[in-house]
Amino acid sequence: MDKYQADVLIVGAGAVGAALARELSKHSLDIIVADRLNDVGGDASKSNSAIVHTGFDAPPGTLESEMVVGSNPMWDRLCGELDIPFKRVGAILVALNEQEEAELPGIMAKARKNRVYDLDLLTSAQVRNMESDVSDAVRAGISVPRESITDPFLLVVALAENACANGVRFLVDCEINNLTADGGGYLAESDSARIRARYVVNAAGLFSDRISGFLGIHDSGCIRAEDSFISSTALPRFACNGLFFQCPPRLRRASCWLPPFMATGSAGQRRRNSKTRPTPNEQARA
Ligand SMILES: Cc1cc2nc3c(=O)[nH]c(=O)nc-3n(C[C@H](O)[C@H](O)[C@H](O)COP(=O)(O)OP(=O)(O)OC[C@H]3O[C@@H](n4cnc5c(N)ncnc54)[C@H](O)[C@@H]3O)c2cc1C
Repeated sequence: MDKYQADVLIVGAGAVGAALARELSKHSLDIIVADRLNDVGGDASKSNSAIVHTGFDAPPGTLESEMVVGSNPMWDRLCGELDIPFKRVGAILVALNEQEEAELPGIMAKARKNRVYDLDLLTSAQVRNMESDVSDAVRAGISVPRESITDPFLLVVALAENACANGVRFLVDCEINNLTADGGGYLAESDSARIRARYVVNAAGLFSDRISGFLGIHDSGCIRAEDSFISSTALPRFACNGLFFQCPPRLRRASCWLPPFMATGSAGQRRRNSKTRPTPNEQARA
């Protein structure tokens, strides 16, 4: 059994864990990141849509709105520092029928509540002018110029490499299966390691409820859902310049089209709301 000591243990080496590790590594702290997988990259972080959102459609007044809106302008600099791709390709939210078209003013108002002011209502002619291959069914749209794309795989790798260069230790194949308060700090245990740390950061993504559950905290249940992507160079190459979302965005963002950017080019997605594992709260209720 390997024994480790650290100021901070971060559980999870996805985008959140790797970004926290990099940020904390700017201070003189001894930091360990432990992940149950055999590499950094995370679960959700390696399988997402690659979009850096503006937050135009976030629920106003929420932490999500504050974080997404506030962080969007930071991405140019972050990706520059990490030397990874980042493009402000912009997005068009398209309305394909009368009902969707009627929703556009409400979406504009919501964006303003989120302090995202640079959206424009578009006529069908303006949409076609911006994206010549768009379907004739498009009745109107909204342009969201700062929606952007990056490479989510490289992002986590670059964050982790940077943290590693600053002295952060990464333990892979290290699933934390117990966590206890221990003399002013914490003891985290995996099958192969015992890690003592003054602070523990829970960045375990969809399994963060399990980590907090070890300490008797059951106030957050994770809803696990499945999504699918089609990502292939064999997909038809439309001459699109930016992202497409269908209206209304929070329900239908699942149907989105990404422009060719990463190695595989284009991607599509659809959503099935299926829980894959009961949360601790659900287990307690059962
Ligand atoms: C289909 C899809 C599309 C998305 N599209 C976008 C998008 O376009 N833009 C956007 O900003 N966001 C998007 N998201 C959300 C985004 O991907 C997530 O918010 C983000 O990746 C979460 O990162 P994370 O580090 O918290 O979690 P994860 O990437 O899931 O990382 C958690 C890590 O914790 C580890 N872990 C779990 N339990 C343990 C344990 N007991 N011991 C050790 N390690 C453990 C896991 O192995 C994993 O590596 C999307 C998500 C999905 C699913």
